[in-house]
Amino acid sequence: MFLPFTQKAREVALHEMPDSQRIESCKTFIASVVREEAREFLHLNPEDAVKCYATCNAIISGCPFPLQSRFSKGYARLALNVFRNDAETTLDYAKELFPSLLAEGEDFSINLFEFLNSEQDPSLSQVRSGKVILAYEDICYVLSNLVVRKLMSLPSIDLPSPLKTAAESLTAELYQPPAPGSKVNSLSLQCVEKVKSGMPEGQRYYGSLALAIACHADGLNKKDAEGVMLLYVKACQKGSNSFTDREAIACMDWVYTRGISSFRSLRGTPFEAIHSKCIGCPLRLGERQVGIRKL
Ligand SMILES: [Zn+2]
Repeated sequence: MFLPFTQKAREVALHEMPDSQRIESCKTFIASVVREEAREFLHLNPEDAVKCYATCNAIISGCPFPLQSRFSKGYARLALNVFRNDAETTLDYAKELFPSLLAEGEDFSINLFEFLNSEQDPSLSQVRSGKVILAYEDICYVLSNLVVRKLMSLPSIDLPSPLKTAAESLTAELYQPPAPGSKVNSLSLQCVEKVKSGMPEGQRYYGSLALAIACHADGLNKKDAEGVMLLYVKACQKGSNSFTDREAIACMDWVYTRGISSFRSLRGTPFEAIHSKCIGCPLRLGERQVGIRKL
């Protein structure tokens, strides 16, 4: 089996504009993944697999965040099937991400530092003398989580027009923005979804602020909001300065204490830049909240 998101794949990747046939087959594939109908990756030779992966990535990066999220989860499920059924490919890929990977009887070990550096959930595993011990099934989960993260961290760039058109037609086919005037669930807004998938260093505080406001606007109690904040901390990339659970909770406390349900304070912050890419998002940062409840 050939995995298009591996280092080996990047080596054969070619930078060229996909032709219309490839764009069409990728659109069909993305739609089937989003609808959870796809059962496997497209069967192709390595070079085509890589080109298709790159094309799918480009198209999906032009779609709204909820679609990106559905695609990345669906795609990771397909990868999980491969991981479960093809130990040789899986361990090759695991070794690429975790060079310290070793077989330990039935199980495997990874250097603790390497493991934590990849932001994995340590509760998955047991730690023994500086090494994390994982069953094969845990390895499969770790890798599929990394596939989701890779796909959710695609940069949003201005796409060349055939790819942009493909993204727009997929969006029209697969995504229904909330009806105007309908009760808005802030936590499921595209921009807030994007924040939930993690923010880079330098933007993590603004992300936590946006998320705390969304929790408050949606009427979550503090305990549930705390759960949302902790997941966010996990999703954020670790920078040279850490962003801690305590900082995220403190931000949430600050928002809850002041009863802030409006996103207006986020004007001019990195959150506004994310929101500016939202398609059909009912959130208005710069105006009074007319006709939108709870924002
Ligand atoms: Zn938005």
